[in-house]
Amino acid sequence: MKNFDYFKPDTIKDACSLLSEYQGEAKIIAGGQSLLILMKERIIRPSYLIDITGIPKLDHAQYDDKEGLRIGALTTHREIETSSLIKQRYTLLSEVEIDIASVQIRNVGTVGGNLCHADPCGDFAPPLIGLESKVRLTGMESERILPLEDFFTDYFETALQEHEILTEILVPSPLPYSGAWYHKCSPRETDPAVVGVAVVLCLDSPNGECQTIRIVLGGVGQVPLRAKKAEARLQGNTINEKLINEAAKIAKEEANPISDLRGTEEYKRAMVELLTKEGIEKALEKAKK
Ligand SMILES: Cc1cc2nc3c(=O)[nH]c(=O)nc-3n(C[C@H](O)[C@H](O)[C@H](O)COP(=O)(O)OP(=O)(O)OC[C@H]3O[C@@H](n4cnc5c(N)ncnc54)[C@H](O)[C@@H]3O)c2cc1C
Repeated sequence: MKNFDYFKPDTIKDACSLLSEYQGEAKIIAGGQSLLILMKERIIRPSYLIDITGIPKLDHAQYDDKEGLRIGALTTHREIETSSLIKQRYTLLSEVEIDIASVQIRNVGTVGGNLCHADPCGDFAPPLIGLESKVRLTGMESERILPLEDFFTDYFETALQEHEILTEILVPSPLPYSGAWYHKCSPRETDPAVVGVAVVLCLDSPNGECQTIRIVLGGVGQVPLRAKKAEARLQGNTINEKLINEAAKIAKEEANPISDLRGTEEYKRAMVELLTKEGIEKALEKAKK
């Protein structure tokens, strides 16, 4: 690994100032679970590491009915998995965490690091996008809030500017009669998804029409993709088996996978169809309850 200088600032402002000073040569490090692998393999070779784990008040998970859930960027996967608040109100997020990496990695890896790593096969982004989450990006003297679906710009690339840090994830309160589901296929449960599909839908009454739906596909494009045409097939309708099958076929076409060592394009498209069908069925079941 290339030698680097190490900083551990106590404030967001100092971290952003270091990022600005060493633009292009510095990397933020949080849990280091993804970054260190890339550094050891010399895929990236930063001259400066800025460790943000000493910055207080970035590891919270707070909820109120008006604002919903706010998750600090330094919150670990394990904290999300075990939080009783999240288990109760955002069950999907704690369920997703159980299959992210090993417990050792979940103890150290942060949710901010997971999103900023921007692996299109990451498991945390699709459910969060399904839940209409936003991210707070903090710079030296500015702050902006971006829908998470606009945060990812390319393979392992984000909308973060050189001097910005992701500080918080904002997840709205779940609506009544809503259901959410995520599932991935991967060689082992705890590997990142080959294909992952999140479905979050909301009905207007227990057996009523589908008011809103988000279908988010992971691992089949440069960034997590919304299957918007499939969503449109269901929105405003009473969901039935025929519509579910049609929507799943549309999602299969909207996916944009490539063949690689983890699977062929055809396999990945077939998995999108299968997981989308299952996802709509399961989310619908939950919404009706
Ligand atoms: C063996 C293994 C298995 C894994 N399995 C899965 C899996 O099944 N599913 C899955 O989704 N993930 C998986 N991962 C990825 C893992 O979840 C992430 O590595 C972890 O969450 C990253 O968090 P971190 O705090 O360690 O980030 P780091 O490694 O410290 O940082 C990752 C990247 O994000 C940047 N960064 C970190 N925090 C911030 C911030 N707040 N603001 C701006 N930039 C920031 C860093 O500069 C770096 O580019 C796996 C990783 C390993 C090693």
